[in-house]
Amino acid sequence: MDYLPIFIDLKEQHCLVVGGGEIAARKAALLLKAQASVTLIAPEIAEASRQLLSDNNHAGKINWITASFSADCLDDAQALIIAATDDQQVNLAVYQAAKARKILVNVADQPEMCDFILPSVLDRSPIVVAISSGGKSPILARQLRARLETLIPPAYSKLGQLAGKYRQRVKDKFSKLSQRRRFWESVLQGSVAENMLAGRENLAVTELERLLDETASDALQQGEVYLVGAGPGDPDLLTFKALRLMQQADVAFYDRLVSKEVLALVRKEAELIYVGKQRAWHSKRQEEINQLLLEHAQAGKRVLRLKGGDPFIFGRGGEEISTLAANNIPFQVVPGITAASGVASYAGIPLTHRDYSQSCIFVTGQLKEGELALNWQALVQPRQTIVVYMGLAGLKTLSQQLQKHGMRPDMPAALVQQGTTENQRVWISTIAELPELALREEPVAPTLLIIGEVVQLHASLAWF
Ligand code: SAH
Repeated sequence: MDYLPIFIDLKEQHCLVVGGGEIAARKAALLLKAQASVTLIAPEIAEASRQLLSDNNHAGKINWITASFSADCLDDAQALIIAATDDQQVNLAVYQAAKARKILVNVADQPEMCDFILPSVLDRSPIVVAISSGGKSPILARQLRARLETLIPPAYSKLGQLAGKYRQRVKDKFSKLSQRRRFWESVLQGSVAENMLAGRENLAVTELERLLDETASDALQQGEVYLVGAGPGDPDLLTFKALRLMQQADVAFYDRLVSKEVLALVRKEAELIYVGKQRAWHSKRQEEINQLLLEHAQAGKRVLRLKGGDPFIFGRGGEEISTLAANNIPFQVVPGITAASGVASYAGIPLTHRDYSQSCIFVTGQLKEGELALNWQALVQPRQTIVVYMGLAGLKTLSQQLQKHGMRPDMPAALVQQGTTENQRVWISTIAELPELALREEPVAPTLLIIGEVVQLHASLAWF
């Protein structure tokens, strides 16, 4: 981060704007919006500045010194200085004078002469969203603001005000921070917010009063577990529900398959606990994980269990929640995009296709005591796509057995490394040659195998 965003209270503070053009006027208007008092310094000023000066709303808040800038214009009472002239000498003089007095300064369009930069602002006061590109692309920042404008309609302003009004009463009723957080989350996600955003302010207030009266403190203490599919890697493949629950968790258990981009979307205050099974030195066995989820939920926490792909596909999700069910802990399961569909899409390999394949079968290639116990006869059926999860270690056996049970040796097969991520690689081969390919190329886990005629389509459909 090149700049730390902070929000400054400028009420009744004195600020200086040097320059008489449109840009200076815009900066002055922004400062006035933040309830600062502004002195404009310029020999002449543009129409926009004149309008500010004559606007009754700003009476006593803005004045104009009809002069060129000199260092005497500064005094220690000033909170901020903005220079926006087209004269480099003047800009430099303002900058140096401000520095000499240690007053924060911004010279428009000259990042090297800025202690702070002014973001693009979406004002839904008391909700204020500020976006900065660190001076790299103001247009991009403005476009983003425009997008947020549709996501955060003006009614959020009223919602923010309502919350502000009730803040103290909620504090008085619920003594614990965690209770208050849950109360507000349910208010701001539920019917109170809906009514407010739909313009039914009275209903919103009545509903909030009712909730405040009727919600018992201990109802807000109940722990819960969210078993959430995190998809194959690309964070854009998360579901809305996954994201929402990730944002309200107190603690999150994740394993190796969950990408760091996805992890970055978990609520910042949540405790993150790695329980991957791959790294032997701090691995947690499955029973321990089940136990951890249970204990944290029993302590009243909202527990996020994040699993790669879909929790119910080779994810042992069922085992984790059966412990919870047995102990009457509430839980929710959120499906995720499983590796087969995510990886196949990003590799340009349709899993079914009218001309090539009418069925698709997902199998695990994980060895059990060195063996692959699969129903080979079922796998070698014609016009069927096979997706093999965890197939690398048993690849040789897999290749041999499929051929032994009648699959043609040159059946197309794809090996996909880290699908849907920037490290995705796709190798196209045949079932006979797969083992050698894997030895030669040393793909990085996780990898997925797709076997069947559909693999040929990669040649024309690869897009990612
Ligand atoms: N529950 C997960 C699967 C867990 S088993 C799901 O639904 O996707 C772990 C196996 O999934 C890995 O060995 C690999 O075969 C596959 N896998 C998961 N993510 C993958 C990815 N991004 N690219 C390739 N294979 C992946």
